[in-house]
Amino acid sequence: MSNIKCIGILTSGGDAPGMNAAIRAVTRAAIFNGIAVKAIYRGYKGLITGEIVPFKTENVSNIIQQGGTILKTARCMEFKTPEGRVLAHNRLVEEGIDALVTIGGDGTLTGARIFAQEHNFPIVGVPGTIDNDLFGTDLTIGYDTALNTIMEAVDKIRDTASSHDRLFFIEVMGRDAGFLALNGAIASGAEAAIIPEIALEKDQLAETIENGFRKSKNSSIVLVAESDETGGAMGVAERVKTEYPQFDVRVTILGHIQRGGSPTAQDRILASRMGAAAVDALLDDQRNVMIGVQNDQITYVPFSKAIKIDKPINRELLNTLRILSI
Ligand code: ADP
Repeated sequence: MSNIKCIGILTSGGDAPGMNAAIRAVTRAAIFNGIAVKAIYRGYKGLITGEIVPFKTENVSNIIQQGGTILKTARCMEFKTPEGRVLAHNRLVEEGIDALVTIGGDGTLTGARIFAQEHNFPIVGVPGTIDNDLFGTDLTIGYDTALNTIMEAVDKIRDTASSHDRLFFIEVMGRDAGFLALNGAIASGAEAAIIPEIALEKDQLAETIENGFRKSKNSSIVLVAESDETGGAMGVAERVKTEYPQFDVRVTILGHIQRGGSPTAQDRILASRMGAAAVDALLDDQRNVMIGVQNDQITYVPFSKAIKIDKPINRELLNTLRILSI
């Protein structure tokens, strides 16, 4: 049986819809199990500066439906140094916190992994990122909401696009991961997706244009993942202007709209399950693991795998998109 008496909880890195549902779940599951909870504001930054507040069940009332994170988030360079992490550890000892739940993306889990090893401290990670780019989990918290936001935005752009003979490149987030672009394209009936996973294999723009846009369509929409490889939507549009000047091109960058909004039912349920599972994991003496969900089952994924291994894109989806866009 674990001897954890107090759990600290923080959100870090990029915010994602559903983080609040996860905060609520961790808080309530801990209290249900007789464990005290301390909320750490502004991620690793607040851990160093001591922005730490005891949480009761009522601190997480009425937040399941809110986007963003009530705990705030921050990027913290100091935590990347051993000295900064010593300060963070001192603070945890001072506050009587025996274990941490960190909610965030790849960077947050990387920091957690280094800290946990350096200070032999129990940490469980919860994957909160709209990018869905963490290995070992089918889904990350925020991804479904972002996907729905993209779908709704593309629907609106299509209304104006179809009034003109235009080729629209719509850039979506997904820092070097094409999940949002690919599934967003399928969900919104776009013609193609240009994603970083494929960028080194073939010229996706040339393929898209050479396949030809259906003559009966008076507009075409291509989703482009932000990426250094392709230059994102702006980079792709610049190429079209020089290489295929016959097209009337427009670019839309969806930007931070993708991070906001009330989480979907799927994200709320995922966050609730993962948050409760993080507490279970700590009670079960698990450490240095990320909570994942695979085939609808909760799994524990070692930080080393979640961070280091690239999550592969499902190539069947590329084929589906190609077939359905004829
Ligand atoms: P995300 O979690 O969304 O990927 P970031 O990459 O910005 O966001 O990471 C969030 C925070 O995690 C950073 O500001 C930093 O404090 C911490 N972090 C990231 N990488 C490391 C690292 N290599 N060592 C220690 N801490 C790190």
